[in-house]
Amino acid sequence: MGKRVLVTGGAGFIGSHLIDKLLAQGDDVTVLDNFNDYYDPSNKRINIQEHLKNKNYRIVEGDLRDDASLDKVFQSAPFDSVVHLAAMAGVRPSLTQAAYYMDVNLNGTQKLIDRITNSSPMARLVFGSSSSVYGSRECENFKESDRVDRPLSPYAASKVAGELICYSAHHTTGLQVICLRFFTVFGPRQRPDLAIHKFCELISEGKPIEVFGDGTTRRDYTFVGDITDGIMSAMTSELPGYDIYNLGRSEPVGLTEMIECLEKHLGKKAQIVRMPMQMGDVPFTFASIDKAKQYLKYEPKVSFDEGVRRFVEWHLSRKKVASQVEIRA
Ligand code: NAD
Repeated sequence: MGKRVLVTGGAGFIGSHLIDKLLAQGDDVTVLDNFNDYYDPSNKRINIQEHLKNKNYRIVEGDLRDDASLDKVFQSAPFDSVVHLAAMAGVRPSLTQAAYYMDVNLNGTQKLIDRITNSSPMARLVFGSSSSVYGSRECENFKESDRVDRPLSPYAASKVAGELICYSAHHTTGLQVICLRFFTVFGPRQRPDLAIHKFCELISEGKPIEVFGDGTTRRDYTFVGDITDGIMSAMTSELPGYDIYNLGRSEPVGLTEMIECLEKHLGKKAQIVRMPMQMGDVPFTFASIDKAKQYLKYEPKVSFDEGVRRFVEWHLSRKKVASQVEIRA
């Protein structure tokens, strides 16, 4: 029989991919999402179009911090697992909206946890954390045991604090928790504010791209399908207690290399405008994934090149549909 699962932020990029897989394996899925306008919410409506056709899918359109919305969500309790992905997720906007980020990412997380411990105490909680917790680091891979007390942005600070909130809930109530630190997730439906998506859009339209820094920054880009496999493994894991795992690909890619890969798959040359490094940005991310491999049987399968190919294919097919709609109108 399928499991009963709650996914917060399930209309977003990572959440909607996860739900594709959960529904395909026959799980009963409840979603809480407020369709905020951090990016155009019509993208999120498209993400859930297919889900709405499934009788095992239920969505509550509401805010994580809102008691009435949480009442509606927990009418479907008890859940076997809760995947908490709803968050304000951008690094740069967090610099000017820190208090709002803290309200959603901390207050919202605590309110959700209170409901879980009251109505679904046996549920396993999977918390969507981030590689940004590691801050600025030298060229060696990031291990879960490393210090995470120097976050470079309010967003990063909110993710460290989210992990701590989860730990205190585990300690005080016995809630089973796995925190997953995602490393720069990409693929179809990627958030439009993220670099690969922005650059792809501009290069394909022949417009210039603003490149921050000298192109030597490196990111451990990880394909969304590999991330959702890791989440599913954490949801069903029998590992007791509280723990943290990196989900990355463990092969950092330079910014210049990323742009060249987009150029290759788009068949177009980028016009680059150099800009200074931005406050809050980390120069380098590189996941050690030994722990996730050992305990979650996590094994990233999609190379960066193949992931970019799939992203570009998705982007171009979406543009084609949009232009056909325009022609008909
Ligand atoms: P996303 O913005 O596409 O998805 C987040 C969803 O949460 C959105 O649909 C949004 O409407 C919803 N949401 C936000 N605030 C809410 C609130 N107050 N109440 C209810 N719903 C709310 O982002 P994503 O890239 O899919 O990220 C999902 C999670 O993974 C986030 O927690 C993010 O911090 C984390 N993460 C993402 C990446 C990445 O590269 N995409 C990397 C590290 C961590």
